Amino acid sequence: MNGLRVKELSDVYAIGDCTTVDQRKIMEDISTIFEAADTDHSGTLTIEEFQDVVEDIIIRYPQVELYLKSNHLFEVTESYSRIQKEMKERKYRHLGQFAPLGGSKAAAELPGDWVSMGRSTQWLCGGGLAAVCHTAFADAGQDDIKKKKVVVLGTGWAGTSFLKGLKDPCYSVQVVSPRNYFSFTPLLPSVTCGTVEARSIVEPIRNIVKKKNFDADFKEAECYKIDTVNKKVHCKTTQPSHLGGGIEEFTVDYDYLVIAMGARANTFNTPGVVENAHFLKEVEDAQRIRRTVIDCFERASLPSISEEERKRILHFVVVGGGPAGVEFAAELHDFVKEDLAKLYPALKQYVKITLLEAGDNILNMFDKRITAFAEEKFARDGIQLKTGSMVVKVTDRDISTKERSTGQTVIIPYGMCVWATGIGSRPVVMDFMKQIGQTNRRVLATDEWLRVEGCNEIYALGDCATINQRSVMEDIAIIFSKADKNNSGTLRVDDFKEVINDICERYPQVDLYLKKKQLKNFNALLKNSEEDAEINIEKFKTLLAQVDSQMKNLPATAQVAAQQGSYLADCFNRMKICEANPEGPMRFRGTGRHRFHPFRYRHLGQFAPLGGEQTAAQLPGDWVSIGHSTQWLWYSVYASKLVSWRTRVLVVSDWVRRFTFGRDSSRI
Ligand SMILES: Cc1cc2nc3c(=O)[nH]c(=O)nc-3n(C[C@H](O)[C@H](O)[C@H](O)COP(=O)(O)OP(=O)(O)OC[C@H]3O[C@@H](n4cnc5c(N)ncnc54)[C@H](O)[C@@H]3O)c2cc1C
Repeated sequence: MNGLRVKELSDVYAIGDCTTVDQRKIMEDISTIFEAADTDHSGTLTIEEFQDVVEDIIIRYPQVELYLKSNHLFEVTESYSRIQKEMKERKYRHLGQFAPLGGSKAAAELPGDWVSMGRSTQWLCGGGLAAVCHTAFADAGQDDIKKKKVVVLGTGWAGTSFLKGLKDPCYSVQVVSPRNYFSFTPLLPSVTCGTVEARSIVEPIRNIVKKKNFDADFKEAECYKIDTVNKKVHCKTTQPSHLGGGIEEFTVDYDYLVIAMGARANTFNTPGVVENAHFLKEVEDAQRIRRTVIDCFERASLPSISEEERKRILHFVVVGGGPAGVEFAAELHDFVKEDLAKLYPALKQYVKITLLEAGDNILNMFDKRITAFAEEKFARDGIQLKTGSMVVKVTDRDISTKERSTGQTVIIPYGMCVWATGIGSRPVVMDFMKQIGQTNRRVLATDEWLRVEGCNEIYALGDCATINQRSVMEDIAIIFSKADKNNSGTLRVDDFKEVINDICERYPQVDLYLKKKQLKNFNALLKNSEEDAEINIEKFKTLLAQVDSQMKNLPATAQVAAQQGSYLADCFNRMKICEANPEGPMRFRGTGRHRFHPFRYRHLGQFAPLGGEQTAAQLPGDWVSIGHSTQWLWYSVYASKLVSWRTRVLVVSDWVRRFTFGRDSSRI
């Protein structure tokens, strides 16, 4: 169409939805425009000659007006107001667009990129502007606008951060979790000893749900089956109601499913762990540990207890030298030293804390300086550290370990054992993996957009999933052919210009490799071979051979889970925009571009509290900071990261209470 006339048919016109205006590109006509302005055929134009045609250009090619406006260049055209008047008469004027959302709410996109949502917008929709809007749209009724059903499984770091970030009212959200609250897990070790109270680190999920300006609901239940064929999740309540009645079962339909179910503690099938050890994953676990510690002290105080038994009861064993195990051991040491030793002075000499680690060092994901500092500090504090010691069995009184150095089995009597050795997939996730053919994996695999491999509408984030990063070597031939537009089989460095950004975005290991090799950019890597040499596929393979060595799995941390949640929410918020205008990198295996940029993790640092008001921190750029000042950094970072002002106030007041009165030793 041109000027509403159907192309090639001078007397046929088309208007409305059946047609589209085929806007003329200025670059197609550039020489004709130039010739028209160049009346004396000199081959160059004066400003005056150009002034004669500028009005016609602006009217014929509306993109010129938009360009001048966006670059604030309109003052260069003297006849601006005359042009504007003429444009107004001819041009499409966007007066806004409405989306009634039901429940007396509507969303509106108004001229000038204004966005308005809610009940007041519904009135605007029904009132003045609605008269201008197409009546057929209003007639269609609110019910015809189907909201996409999003089901979120889990109210942990990933699920909550997704829920908090989701803003687009075109979704109807159903959250399902056996826990009706979010818990701030980094402070769980503090709960085990009463440094902070359990309720201070949790936020009811309904507080978050009620703040949503769209349909959002929560069901306290656990998902036990995902039915991908009928797009349903099967759920059941986890415990019979106190009001009578048994376990309730129900199903929830989804258009999009977000799996954020976290992970379970991993026992590595060690006999007796589930029955006899305490885990430290949930708030209830931390509360149970707190009660058991006090139990041990009270029992050990009884006069009928033998010396031998007293020693056993007051032997606290922590299995696993990761951050959670180390932090718990340090907290327990502080609790005993600062509070319990004063309340149970006669028992002080019997207390022993042992940390068992199967590897060579504790905190092995941290910098070596931190590991060394932590090991020395524990030695000074009297916390016994046994590395190379693998637990093979736990009974109600003893732990059996296999010592790597001697190969012998050692029996350790204990009073309380805390198991903090790592995580494994939940049974429901394992079943789901079987169902979708991910049988040979330990963790649910997603692509870089957090979509479960092979399931377009199912996303998985946080501890329950891992990103299956695509290797460059798998795609090397396709990458090469995308750069080699004329299929010559060889390329110069400059020929890669158009695909470099896409390569670096699609394969993040490339950037990491460049950093490691201290190369400025991808060109530098290619030029590293021979200056100006032609690169064929074999050479390309050789140059990139080492790049995939930089592929790393992301750690199972709150930081990763929270960033994934907000990334996915952002994608959902911009789904329609990005479907129309994909913003991601080129699809190397297919055509076009990906809708979104892939997920990128930003590591903001990691803390390891070591007790005695000392903390170690590994900050971005491999900065290491250890000591009392880092403990203050820890206080301020964690206080700021708490999810609400309510929890922030509660935690800070708990810290003040602990400084002032010490920890509470009541067994409740
Ligand atoms: C003691 C401790 C200290 C930690 N300290 C830190 C730290 O300092 N920094 C850090 O970055 N990370 C830390 N972590 C790790 C961090 O807590 C996890 O990586 C993070 O919780 C993962 O988030 P998630 O949302 O994947 O899982 P979770 O936070 O575990 O949430 C999982 C959610 O899924 C729900 N769920 C479970 N089963 C089902 C089901 N069948 N159906 C529906 N819902 C279900 C659960 O109830 C829960 O709401 C710590 C962990 C622990 C245990």
